[in-house]
Amino acid sequence: MKDCNKNEEDDPYRPSAPVSTGTLPRWARKHHHVQQHHQNHHHHSHAVEFDDNDAVPSAPPLNLMDQVSGYESVSFDAVSVPPPEDPPPATPGEEDAAGPSGAGDGGGGGDGGGPMGGDPMGGPQASGVARWGHTLSEQEARAALVAHVKRRCCYGASAARNMAITALDHASALQYTLETFTERRETAWSFSPYLGDEVDGSDNGPAPLPWELDVRPSQSFASEVKCQPVPHTSSVKQCHRCKGSGSILCADCHGKGWVHCISCHGNGYDTDASGYKERCFYCHSSIHGRGRQDCSKCSAKGKMACPTCEGGGLLLCFIQLTVTWRVNVSEHIVDRMSVPEDLVRNVTGAVAFVEEGARVLPIAHFPDETVNMASAQLLRDHEHDFSTQRILAQRHQVQVIPVTGATYKWKSSKGEFYVYGNEQKVYAPDYPQTCCCGCTIL
Ligand SMILES: [Zn+2]
Ligand SMILES: [Zn+2]
Ligand SMILES: [Zn+2]
Repeated sequence: MKDCNKNEEDDPYRPSAPVSTGTLPRWARKHHHVQQHHQNHHHHSHAVEFDDNDAVPSAPPLNLMDQVSGYESVSFDAVSVPPPEDPPPATPGEEDAAGPSGAGDGGGGGDGGGPMGGDPMGGPQASGVARWGHTLSEQEARAALVAHVKRRCCYGASAARNMAITALDHASALQYTLETFTERRETAWSFSPYLGDEVDGSDNGPAPLPWELDVRPSQSFASEVKCQPVPHTSSVKQCHRCKGSGSILCADCHGKGWVHCISCHGNGYDTDASGYKERCFYCHSSIHGRGRQDCSKCSAKGKMACPTCEGGGLLLCFIQLTVTWRVNVSEHIVDRMSVPEDLVRNVTGAVAFVEEGARVLPIAHFPDETVNMASAQLLRDHEHDFSTQRILAQRHQVQVIPVTGATYKWKSSKGEFYVYGNEQKVYAPDYPQTCCCGCTIL
């Protein structure tokens, strides 16, 4: 049985929630007759208790499953079902009209005085982009460097205090981010122990198709998985594991109910150092006689309740629908200075543009042409990558991240450091006083 814990390693996009990958055989997984649960669920407690699983089919034979119209190719492995063709979307008209539709919750870092949530076409000229936000003074750049150096216990601070800053250069980094909120629907045969509940079978009507079922995400732009049986697909079958008997042989004792006593090696007596023989302490009171220890797994009975049907001998078989919502994030960073992208990614700037809608169009007239190209490319990529899923919503934004580059001279060394982001983080790859053995260079 495939449950809600999806294996998503094939997805190149960053998941926003932890993903567990189930590896247990189907029958060892606990059935989730549950409407909804999250992905950070672990399988630890259902450890494989039987070592004969090679001999046991993991699911009832497929040919015993009912024929369900519209689900002829469903197997026990979940298969993604592409959505039916969308009705042609209402054309959003002029590209310019897309602007106001969004703005959404962009909020964020709009303190820099940059145009917010607005129309990228009417934005400032290219030179303006580079200078959005507050421009650092020499004193501020130095203060940021001193603070940075002080956080590193082995860096000397005197260079930061005394160096001559010979030039300041301001050039914002641009971070374009596209988020596509997708929905994937998969179907698979599934089963759970049949415990006498009502059976919603084909007598109740034809089964609705996967995309006809009304299943909605709890919130927009959040990863989530929901599972539910497809209505009118249930039937009761004999358990394949125990052939309907409700019990299976104990794998620890192979059905005998006992195992050889490891303490006395099966002879029933222990011999101590002086050669004195006495009844083995571990097996002297066992049900199956001396030298044999009661099997603890089956309480000496040799068999145990079938875990697949929980002892009832019957299974409820049904088609399970699994709906997976994902937020797929792609981004492109334009960085004119040499601050590594990973650093730029983790600070904030001013949100220069934000838009949200059922679908967004590529940004076409942002003052920086690389951003326009990245927008078009990433939108094409998402369109392609999620062609077998339904795109429910998209949003994209451009953040302008202030970067100041400072050129300095200190004693005989020359170098550069960078102050970036609203947080005024510092990147100083060649800071001259980094000796870490306490031998501060003075
Ligand atoms: Zn046993
Ligand atoms: Zn013994
Ligand atoms: Zn069974």
